[in-house]
Amino acid sequence: MEKRIAIIEGDGIGPEIMAEAVKVLRCIEQLYGHSFTYVPVCAGGCAIDRFGTSLPKESLQACLDSDSVLLAAVGGPKWDGVDPSIRPEKALLSIRKELGLYANLRPAKIFSQLKDASPLKPSIVEKGIDFMVVRELIGGVYFGAKKTEEVDGELYASDNMCYYEHEIRRIAHTAFQTARKRHSRVVSVDKANVLDTSRLWRKIVHEVAEEYPDVQCADMLVDNAAMQIVKDPAQFDVVVTENMFGDILSDEASMITGSIGLIPSASLGESKRGMYEPIHGSAPDIAGQNIANPIGMILSAGLMLKYAFDLDEEQKLIEEAVEQVLIDGYRCSDIMEEGKKKLTCSEMGDQIVETMQKIKG
Ligand code: NAD
Repeated sequence: MEKRIAIIEGDGIGPEIMAEAVKVLRCIEQLYGHSFTYVPVCAGGCAIDRFGTSLPKESLQACLDSDSVLLAAVGGPKWDGVDPSIRPEKALLSIRKELGLYANLRPAKIFSQLKDASPLKPSIVEKGIDFMVVRELIGGVYFGAKKTEEVDGELYASDNMCYYEHEIRRIAHTAFQTARKRHSRVVSVDKANVLDTSRLWRKIVHEVAEEYPDVQCADMLVDNAAMQIVKDPAQFDVVVTENMFGDILSDEASMITGSIGLIPSASLGESKRGMYEPIHGSAPDIAGQNIANPIGMILSAGLMLKYAFDLDEEQKLIEEAVEQVLIDGYRCSDIMEEGKKKLTCSEMGDQIVETMQKIKG
């Protein structure tokens, strides 16, 4: 298989963790006979420094011309004072919008070797945490009309929560298709007892569910979902929800798994081309020291193989190797525990590659 991958290293620890993801992808090329072309794309704070904007036209075009976009992280205190219209994060919003990436997939999975890192009780964690939050990404209250004005002598603000039927339908399809690649169970989260947008959400999700008779579908109110995620996370396989609920629930879900450095994400649209990135930021406090944990970045490259290129076996190999490295007692400093072997960022990449080669024989 031949693919072009846009590589956005971005800022802070970005270049360090991206180097490890590329190392792992090169190993996949070698083990399975694929051929990936890595196209370096400048975006974020580094692009502001070089071109005066966080997403130069050429960078966006390079993403559009690629089969997939792999992103490390952008931003940092250096650019906190720049004009909001060119902030580093603006680059990500523009890429999402231009690529039509309406679905954000965030796995919440706990590695059994790291269960002590979870803030939940061992009796809950032992039942297993392995579910996927599918969040609608470019609709809802974050994108509705907003205003702040003075009414009757006091300030008044409003944000409009709105959804078209087609926006709900397409994310519902993403959720059911994702469930088919997992354990075929979808929980759709809404606030249908109060909100019209949620009542429409529920109606459309039920219609789409009829097209997937092999996938179980249940509804859950968002306040209950927030409780259930900490009370009994093992019950979930795929959770699908609108933008703001998903923003909050996906952070809650990642928190219960332990370290921020371990979690990947995928943003998907109509075409197979998506953007894949770890959930953390550019960690400027540890940048340039070769101590960042590259696992979230490496697992993001794995999600890219699975969702963009349908390379399920290759993705599984990466996940298995990460798990094995943790079983073997290797840790980066963010998840270091007594009695374990501490690795730098690049050593962790090497260890994962070596383990992939061993597993594949
Ligand atoms: P952050 O995620 O960068 O860091 C939070 C804490 O987690 C820090 O102590 C950091 O050292 C640690 N951490 C993060 N990733 C790690 C890793 N892989 N290994 C080890 N430790 C890790 O969040 P922040 O400090 O709030 O944000 C820093 C910058 O990143 C800001 O400019 C923010 O806007 C930006 N940001 C970018 C993205 C993105 O590019 N998608 C996402 C979030 C934040």
